[in-house]
Amino acid sequence: MLATLDFKTMLFMSGVLAVALSLLLLVIHQRDNMLKGLKHWVYANILLSFSIITFIQSGISVDVRALIGSLFFVYGLTMYLISIRIFELEPLKIQSIQNALIAIVIINLLITFFLKNAYISILFNTSLCIAISVLCAHYLLKRSRHKHYREYIFTGICFVIFAGLTFFRLYILAANNIQPVEHLTQWNLNKITFLLCMLSLLAINFGFIAMVNEKMAELLEQSAGHDWLTNTLTRGNLEKSAEAQTLKTIKLKQSQAMLLMDLDNFKSINDTHGHLCGDSVLQAFADLIKDNAREIDLIGRYGGEEFCIIMPNATEAEAFILAERIRRKFESSPIMFNGQPISCTVSIGLCDSNSIHAHFNTMFSAADKSLYAAKNAGRNKIVAYSSLH
Ligand code: GH3
Ligand code: MG
Ligand code: MG
Repeated sequence: MLATLDFKTMLFMSGVLAVALSLLLLVIHQRDNMLKGLKHWVYANILLSFSIITFIQSGISVDVRALIGSLFFVYGLTMYLISIRIFELEPLKIQSIQNALIAIVIINLLITFFLKNAYISILFNTSLCIAISVLCAHYLLKRSRHKHYREYIFTGICFVIFAGLTFFRLYILAANNIQPVEHLTQWNLNKITFLLCMLSLLAINFGFIAMVNEKMAELLEQSAGHDWLTNTLTRGNLEKSAEAQTLKTIKLKQSQAMLLMDLDNFKSINDTHGHLCGDSVLQAFADLIKDNAREIDLIGRYGGEEFCIIMPNATEAEAFILAERIRRKFESSPIMFNGQPISCTVSIGLCDSNSIHAHFNTMFSAADKSLYAAKNAGRNKIVAYSSLH
């Protein structure tokens, strides 16, 4: 088969394919900047393609080709690693990576000019490729407990296959010590293993694109269920989440509480300072409730300046403590807008499922009556449903 397939053309085509796949990622990146690390994946594929182009050049001496080509390869794989870390929003030690890359160049130059042995530099860079791809596989397989684990496992396994093939290459290269280095380009075993490595890189690219696809779907689902201004749940999503929570509450025979909050005289803030100022007040209020509620509480915006908190496993008395904290903090911390302090207050109605059914609509109606009473009592007040009768 190798006689009929041209090795250099196949290598070149695998490089072209990798770059073509990258262009797909660039399109996604241009369309929406929600996902991080895509650009770095594109850089990685471009570096790997440079590496292939260098390997298949015939005008340059084989020592120089081996040195530059394998350096591009190591840099390309490092870029994959960087891309995976950024994509997962994990911290990156940029300074250490830069130092490592500089050290790799220096070691390669020392080997080439002092030992004058391109073969050693090939063995050194091949070992580095194994280490980097094992690290990539480690980070991906570690994330395989993630919701969309299949894509991570697939890409991780492709990296393991790539590392395995590269290890095999290292083994046969070390065991055979082909000299002079030019003979490597004629050696069939070298050709086959290198080609298989390139094919596993293509599979890695498919895997990464599948990961990007899943992550986009997840982000879209999340943004559809969240209010864009305050990043709290939309009314529909709040009700859906509340239904699931209510089933749990009933099953565990617990109590759950609900708070309805409506900003006082909010219209006048819009009228006096403009809508943008009103938006800032809404965002500041949403941040305040997020900072003070528990991790398990559900927070939603069910109207223009109306918010709701559902507190699983909580009583009216506990809800009252949270309500009082929110009311007091909101009253005493004016929002700065264009250097001007804007004051606002909030009225809160609350109830729990000890005296009424835990169903969302029943609790909503009780909390709404309490909120109405809080407004009637002069605003900036908290009213509990149990105090109404
Ligand atoms: P009350 O104390 O009785 O609740 O009076 P209020 O002025 O807060 O209530 P009202 O229902 O009269 O006005 C609510 C205002 O909220 C009217 C609307 O323009 C404004 N609003 C609704 N959604 C938004 C939004 O997303 N951004 C801004 N800036 N304003 C909003
Ligand atoms: Mg209102
Ligand atoms: Mg209001």
